[in-house]
Amino acid sequence: MIIPRHAPDTVARPHEWARKAACTKPEADPDWWAAPGPSEDGQTAITWCAACPVRRPCLELAIRIEEDASAGHRSGIYGGLTPHDRRQLFELRRRRGEA
Ligand code: SF4
Repeated sequence: MIIPRHAPDTVARPHEWARKAACTKPEADPDWWAAPGPSEDGQTAITWCAACPVRRPCLELAIRIEEDASAGHRSGIYGGLTPHDRRQLFELRRRRGEA
């Protein structure tokens, strides 16, 4: 079983789709996804995520995990979104009754 270094699977929730995660490629630098906010590294991660074949399940898993966590829990880039963007998406879904 492969546990990617950066996808939400790092919280010990391995998923079959994670095998395809772009951020697990050897040439991917883990620091790109750990960027705390807007930065050159963060933008590099977002660019990689945009081409990742498992972006959708990655994003949905991150949002699902984070919605159960405290407000300060969000960090890093997942599914191509920053912590701020994921929170906005979560709040939008909640207002629409989708979360
Ligand atoms: S969308 Fe980004 S963080 Fe998620 S698995 Fe793909 S490359 Fe990794």
